[in-house]
Formats: sequence, C-alpha cells, structure tokens
Amino acid sequence: MTVRKKRCPRSDSSWLDSVVEGPDTGYSGQFFLWQGGAGSPCGSPLDLYLSIYRIRLGCACTRRPRNQRKKRNIMHILNARLRGETTLVDIEIEGERIARITPVPETREHAPRPGDYDAAGRLVTPQFVEAHIHLDYANTEGVPRENESGTLFEAIEIWGERKRLGLHTKEDIKVKALAAARRAAEHGVGFIRTHVDVTDPSFAGFEALAELRDEIRPWCDLQIVAFPQNGIYAFAGGDKLMERAMDAGADVVGGIPHLEPTREAGVASLAWLFDLAEKHSAPIDVHTDEIDDPHSRFVEVMAAEAAKRSMGEQTVVSHSVAMAYYSPGYIARLMPKLAAAKVRFAVCPNENLHLQGLGFSGPVPRGVAPVKTLTEYGIPVSFCQDSMSDPFYPMGDGDLLRILDSGLHVSHMLTPQHLPTALDFITSNPAGNLGMTDHDIAEGRAANLLVLDATDDREAVQTKASVLLSIHRGTEVLRREPSAPTWTIEDGTPGNDPA
Ligand SMILES: [Zn+2]
Repeated sequence: MTVRKKRCPRSDSSWLDSVVEGPDTGYSGQFFLWQGGAGSPCGSPLDLYLSIYRIRLGCACTRRPRNQRKKRNIMHILNARLRGETTLVDIEIEGERIARITPVPETREHAPRPGDYDAAGRLVTPQFVEAHIHLDYANTEGVPRENESGTLFEAIEIWGERKRLGLHTKEDIKVKALAAARRAAEHGVGFIRTHVDVTDPSFAGFEALAELRDEIRPWCDLQIVAFPQNGIYAFAGGDKLMERAMDAGADVVGGIPHLEPTREAGVASLAWLFDLAEKHSAPIDVHTDEIDDPHSRFVEVMAAEAAKRSMGEQTVVSHSVAMAYYSPGYIARLMPKLAAAKVRFAVCPNENLHLQGLGFSGPVPRGVAPVKTLTEYGIPVSFCQDSMSDPFYPMGDGDLLRILDSGLHVSHMLTPQHLPTALDFITSNPAGNLGMTDHDIAEGRAANLLVLDATDDREAVQTKASVLLSIHRGTEVLRREPSAPTWTIEDGTPGNDPA
C-alpha cells in the first residue's frame, strides 16, 4: 500500500493521507484517510486498516466517522394523489430518486416514520419549471428611473442607461437575481431557464448568473441563455459577445431578430444563431416577434431553420407576440409549418398583457400568442413569468400558478378540454423546453416534486393552491402549513358573534 500526505485544500488544520493501490482491499485507485493524532477519529494501525474500507473521496475536514455518517436518505410521502388518478399512493424517495410508488394499504403496519410526510389526499406534481425569465434584470425597477410610457422600447432605453451609469455590477445583479430565484422556489419552481443580456462588454450579468448557477444547484437547476438584448448586428460587436458567452459556458443560444436593423438582417441573424447553436451542440431559444407588428414574421424563419437542421425539439420560440396580430389566413398557413418543424413555445401572458397594445385605440389587442390554436396543433406551449420587477414589468412574483391563471384566461382555455391538464403548461411543457424528457412522477425518476394544497389541476388553478412541500433531487427544499382564515364573525353572519 502506498501512502502519501497532502494538505487539505479547504482547511489549514487538516491533513489527508492519500492511499494508492490498497492490496488489502483489492481497490486500485485513490482515496483518503483521516490523519491520526489528537482528536482524530483514527490513529492506530487498526484504524488505518479499517479506514481503507471507508472509501470517501473528498476532504477529511468534511467527513464523519462511520457511525456518524449520514445514511442514504429515505422519505415517504403518504396518501398522495397523482394527477388524473382516483386512488391514493405512497411514494418512497431514496436518495435523489423515486424508488417506489405503491397503493395506500388498507391498514398500515406502522405509524409514519420521522421525516415522512402525510399528503392527506393532496395532489403531488412535478416541480414547476420556469422556462423564460430574465433574472439579471430582476428587482431593478425604478432605478435609474420609472418606465413612464410602460412600453418595451422605453424599458430597453432604461436598461441601456443602467449599463452606461455603472449600475450594472456583478455583485448587485447576483444579490437581486438570488432573491428572485428564491421567490420562484417558494412558489414551487425547481428549474429555471434565464436569459442573460450579453450585449454588455463588462459581462457582469453573465458572470453573476454563472456563479449563481453553481451556488443554487442544490435547490434549483439554472440554464443560462446567452441573450443579445440589443441585437447581434444592431449592436456593435454583438456577434462576438454571443460567441464569447457560448465559449464561457452559456447553455443556450438566444436572439432577437425583430430588433436587428432590417428584416434581412433579422433573417441573417437567425441563420447565424442556428450555426452558433449547432457549433456548440446547444439548444436555441429566441425572443421572436415581441412587437405589436403584424408584419414581424420571424417565427416562420425559426420554423424553417429548425426544420432544415432537424433541430425543432431543441428550438424554442419565445413571446411571439406578433402572432396575436396575424390574419386568420396567415395563421392557417403558419401553424402546420410550426407543427411539422416540432418547435416549442414560451409565452409570457402577464408581461405581454402589460407591454403590448399600449397607445392603441379600442379594441385594444391582447398581444399574447394564440396559445389555444398552438395547443390544438399539438405544439407544446409553456407559460412563463419573463420579468420580476424590472424596467419592462413592475410586477412579478415568480408564481407560475398566477401566470397560468392569466394565460388560461387570455387564451380562452377555461374549458373542460384544457383545465384537467392545465398544469402541463408549467410542468411537462416547460420541462421539454429545457430538454428534460423525464419530468414526471414515476419509479426511477429524479424526485423533483411538489405537494399542492389541492386535489387536481382545476382546483390548483382555481384556488392558486399553496405549495406545501417542495423536493428537489430528493432533498426537501421547503414546506409550509396549509392555511385557513379564522372567522371573527360566526358563520360569516354579521351580528352572530362567536363569543
Ligand atoms: Zn423575455
């Protein structure tokens, strides 16, 4: 057995023994042992020998003796109701995965164990997925000034002023983005795709979000879209900044063709962005036609590029506001192309209800893509938050049930056909946008789930159900107690004093 010593990388006070090729165990490789000495958990040759079996890659200062070591985490969610099912089940979570789903027994052999959770017949769903947000913009509303007109164009101006005034620092962005991500997590979100403005040579936003991506991984998976807010041709060096962001580890290629100098430049930008995505084997998610202009028709270019390159399932069309203005004839021609290309959509109803149609005389257009029609063509649509208190949108709480409620209303989808599966818009559909193909509740799947204070999709939307328990990769992120008001007037009847 060969033993080497080296200093612990995280602590001056700890030493590690690195043991290579332990013949006693047949193990060939490298693992670490505790250094013997005062206060050390092992010091004698016997301890050293026994430690060989404690193969624990990592640092001694973070490891525990065997009898204190954490067992593989097992948790049960009892009396759970799965979507679309009438009988209740128990869900056993072992480590990061769902190990077993079994029907609730008629009589239980033992009382619930510590850490088990009694869902009491409530709905268990996959964690919510936020497929389109701008975390680098979050919580910046009002600084340096309010958006007086409320328009998207004034918002972009204000955003540029922030950058010029030096208000756009990595530290500040990170604090504000973390607050926004935590807020979303409190509403049951476990996965976020955030666009990050890279038309900023300081790269402050990108660097802040790249750090955050690593730091919040235990409770939220973050994907970063390299987003050229000011365009790749409309902004000098925009294309180089996009390449730099992808080289630096951005997950997804973004774009904004309707803000390029001409229609032709917009089309060229999409070809260039798809090339970039192919070069990096990355998905593509483009702000497409987010403008009150029926002649903005980059969505058809997106579909054509995706079809040509067989990239439809990695292609997300975001916002697509102009579709709300297209004539029925053009929609009828466009929809089959979108379906054939297999592109996906990310629609942000609250944000675009606020931004679009400003200054129009009645009837005021709604400025939201035709979600019902897209859905009827089998095209997956996600409902997304987009902004949380920034120059573009002064509201936003990261609450996807609220967004879903608005989206269903504005899309005329409060129907028996759509309500029973309404949660698809904030679970499985956005999961597909993020490239996740296994975001459901089944044995062997990653345990990313919620207990909602509701029994089905319809009730969850109707009551904007509270998230009572959120689990991410088998780890409990948060829980809250169901709440009910305390009536001060008995039976709600005035004059009927409960005292
Ligand atoms: Zn957006």
